Amino acid sequence: MARRLVWFRQDLRTHDHAALSAACRHPDDEVIALYVMNEGAWLAHDTAPIKVDFDLRTLIQLRQRLIQLGIPLLLRQVAADADIPALFIQLASDIGMQEVLLHVEHGPNELQRDRAVNQALTALNINMRFYEDACIVPPGNLHRPQGDPYQVFTPFKRRWLQVVPTLPTPLAAPQPRRQSLRLSDPIPHPLPGWIPEVSSWPWPAGEDEALQRLELFCNERIHDYATLRDIPSQPGTSQLSPYLANGSLSPRMALHQALATPPGSGRDTWLGELAWRDFFKHILVDYPRVGRHRAFDLSTEGLIWSKRNDHFEAWCQGRTGFPLIDAAMRQLLQTGWMHNRLRMVTAMFLVKDLWLDWRWGERWFMQHLIDGDLAANNGGWQWSASTGVDAVPYFRIFNPWTQSQRFDPDGLFIRTWLPELAPIPPKRLHCPPGSHPLTDSYPWPIIRHDQARLHALAAFKNLRTLS
Ligand SMILES: Cc1cc2nc3c(=O)[nH]c(=O)nc-3n(C[C@H](O)[C@H](O)[C@H](O)COP(=O)(O)OP(=O)(O)OC[C@H]3O[C@@H](n4cnc5c(N)ncnc54)[C@H](O)[C@@H]3O)c2cc1C
Repeated sequence: MARRLVWFRQDLRTHDHAALSAACRHPDDEVIALYVMNEGAWLAHDTAPIKVDFDLRTLIQLRQRLIQLGIPLLLRQVAADADIPALFIQLASDIGMQEVLLHVEHGPNELQRDRAVNQALTALNINMRFYEDACIVPPGNLHRPQGDPYQVFTPFKRRWLQVVPTLPTPLAAPQPRRQSLRLSDPIPHPLPGWIPEVSSWPWPAGEDEALQRLELFCNERIHDYATLRDIPSQPGTSQLSPYLANGSLSPRMALHQALATPPGSGRDTWLGELAWRDFFKHILVDYPRVGRHRAFDLSTEGLIWSKRNDHFEAWCQGRTGFPLIDAAMRQLLQTGWMHNRLRMVTAMFLVKDLWLDWRWGERWFMQHLIDGDLAANNGGWQWSASTGVDAVPYFRIFNPWTQSQRFDPDGLFIRTWLPELAPIPPKRLHCPPGSHPLTDSYPWPIIRHDQARLHALAAFKNLRTLS
């Protein structure tokens, strides 16, 4: 009988879990699960307390599910990545596992951490088996015919759409096995120091919930996705991102369910979003500098950003005087989530209107998002800032007033998050206030969009001339 350890990270589920399924292949083997709480890494990566809280609640569900399968979940706590090799040496002596099975994490620190653990385990003759899990099409499997990585999304998606129907169907959860004599550790929740200001409870945790939400979305809403996805006052998108980010939902399961729905523009558009998710993860693997806060387009590192902390603070707190921007930033502060259209609009506003470094915004998002994900967040920010791969061209600058008029014409979204503007007629919400402020308490716009736009255009143009 062998003893195998499955190290869970951002893959908190039992369905379609390659490492868990492989560990459970032989019914007589003992399978033990492990989760390592690493506050140093959470701090270093700006993980939002609401995400930590949601992950711990997900872990409580996972622990129960694993117990039903006869697999105990061990919980260990470390202060930093550097402590993890020693933790594994201790585990090897305590439980005597022959093998550690896990999924690859592609962030630069995570890769370094896993290399160090692998080295420590190799010295003990313990095998570490890595499986690809984070993407639908694993990184490295989709390169241009010339062999180099795609840098443009459309041909990537075209190829991705050819490949995905040929992929194997998602793996079922393993069968229950003989109960281990080992006990599962309790999951500390709420965790002192990580109690979020905004509750994560509106997001029910765990893979059952994730799968139910996926089913509901595919049965009832995916057909309208193409028409409703840009309207932030409507529940037009799947809201599955927190589950995909912590792996309580397998991305392959999301694909599989979507492919089982009747074809149509809603389904096609949603598949495109799953492709964007893969695209940015592939970029992180092929161009690891983006995971170290470097621009994909290195020439843009010559841009000299404003240092106006007061502007940044106004953006963070939703006090810029631009109702759509402020409503979106308050949605983030009050829920830990923001609609995709508004992530683009607020990011573009931070960079092109306030002329603040995109990294400031990237960090603020990570510190507040329940679905914070290095590749998607970095990809979204660099797209909006025109510093990234297949980014929006620098001269296409969203006008925040026009975006507001287009995507929230009746001001429904704005009024939900800015109740102080409830009495204001919609058309006054979508243009500069003229000679009268909108209300006594609501701020005057902190910049003029037309002037800010010209400044951004000139700065990018200057950069192009210099390089
Ligand atoms: C500046 C900026 C920052 C972002 N930060 C994150 C982040 O930290 N974490 C995150 O998961 N997404 C991020 N996104 C992408 C996108 O906004 C969210 O995935 C989406 O809003 C989540 O809502 P949903 O689950 O309803 O998405 P749906 O529209 O239902 O899409 C389904 C899934 O596809 C994926 N997806 C959708 N759009 C994108 C995209 N543009 N890039 C990558 N994946 C995508 C997500 O996993 C999402 O759950 C960011 C986008 C921008 C512009």
